[in-house]
Amino acid sequence: MEKKIFVAAPSLSGNEKKYVMDCLDSTWISSVGKYINEFEASFAKYIGIKHAISCSNGTVALHLPLLALDIGPDDEVIVPTLTYIATANAVAYVGAKRVFVDCDPETWAIDLEDLKKKITPKTKAIMVVHLYGHPADMDPLMEVANKNKIPVIEDCAESIGATYKSKMTGTFGLISTFSFFGNKVITTGEGGMVVTNDAQLEKKMRILKGQGMDPERRYWHPVVGYNYRMTNIQAAIGLAQLEQVDTFLKYRRQLAAWYNEELATLKNDITIPKEAAWAKHCYWMYSIMVNKNDGKQRDSLMAFMATKGIETRPLFYPMHQMPPHKSNDPFPKADDIAARGINLPTHTGLKRDDVSYIANSLKEYFTKG
Ligand SMILES: *Cc1c(COP(=O)(O)O)cnc(C)c1O
Repeated sequence: MEKKIFVAAPSLSGNEKKYVMDCLDSTWISSVGKYINEFEASFAKYIGIKHAISCSNGTVALHLPLLALDIGPDDEVIVPTLTYIATANAVAYVGAKRVFVDCDPETWAIDLEDLKKKITPKTKAIMVVHLYGHPADMDPLMEVANKNKIPVIEDCAESIGATYKSKMTGTFGLISTFSFFGNKVITTGEGGMVVTNDAQLEKKMRILKGQGMDPERRYWHPVVGYNYRMTNIQAAIGLAQLEQVDTFLKYRRQLAAWYNEELATLKNDITIPKEAAWAKHCYWMYSIMVNKNDGKQRDSLMAFMATKGIETRPLFYPMHQMPPHKSNDPFPKADDIAARGINLPTHTGLKRDDVSYIANSLKEYFTKG
């Protein structure tokens, strides 16, 4: 095999090494240090929000808001069934019921009509996920949430830099979260961030992430907290990544434009990702669907791409299919999209030629029948 193209790969050619070396030289390698403060301040500024709280990954970033909102065993939280497992798991951590909602076939995010049907007096939060980097349709969603006085938590793990009507994802919900795992648009290796404009909630989440310690009284712990801290080294990488985020986002949109151009002739066989008129997609993943839903073609295409040295990924399995979150309610749209979807390689190390090679391999699969 002459080539190996991965689905994702980080790009670390900015100030990452310089800032990490600074941590090592200064010995500030744990969870106190200037990079933590700088990364949080720069991140809040970039998103356009008052407070940013760094934490150890994007999963605990989802746990903190649920804890801060005092959500527990008698409560229900609405979660889109088509998401990554972390969104549903965070709800399980607080013992609340996961109430799943089908997805919108255009945006793949939470379906508004199904959402309306699932709100009950026990609904304590609505989680919104901007899946694969395409924003959810936030205005009608916020209207439903506000009318019912239910807080919205935006899971922006996949949508940093994506905008809805020119506003950043992460600025609509009461609390929003981000992930900096190695395959995300910006990375710290492992890492996460929680953002909010609410000073009270910010304070509460900072206490919870730092062992529940009273900020005014050392070693006094009025609540059960967690060690969810990010290290200065992670923040050093994050700060260097954030300096490059606009370049990364621009390149991802370029990749998507190349893919769109190359794949236009395959429209009878595959569906390319849509971008709503009000959306700016950040293309965390360039996701296509095979048009045929015979339960076989998607996997056979992925196997063929692997013989060409091209890694692809299936879409996430919907949460209602998972053993710990099983639900027998119908979710026909999520089932269909998840069974037909494939993520193509999407990262800033790919060149125009790589996109052509990937597109030609797709064409070869469909012409040979
Ligand atoms: C990546 C991701 C997370 C968090 O992941 P971590 O690996 O814990 O940082 C949460 N939700 C979604 C939708 C994700 O894609």
